Amino acid sequence: MPRLPEKRVDWRHARIKGRLPPRLVRCPGGECGQYIYAGGKTCPHCGGTLVTLRRKQLAALRKAERAAEKLREILGSLPE
Ligand SMILES: [Zn+2]
Repeated sequence: MPRLPEKRVDWRHARIKGRLPPRLVRCPGGECGQYIYAGGKTCPHCGGTLVTLRRKQLAALRKAERAAEKLREILGSLPE
């Protein structure tokens, strides 16, 4: 079987040329989560405003933390 040519990106070369790989982040949208460019204002996948989505994500995280804390309390109060 013939050896396939390597398709690896030489990032060292990219650095020499002054072209860093683009910084990607995950969209904070609950149902989206696609990779998007950092520094954008809106997500090109779901069209959401990133500031709003991030705020919603933090609110959901706090809610989950409260639920986990309540669960720990309930489990901790159970007789062994
Ligand atoms: Zn999105």
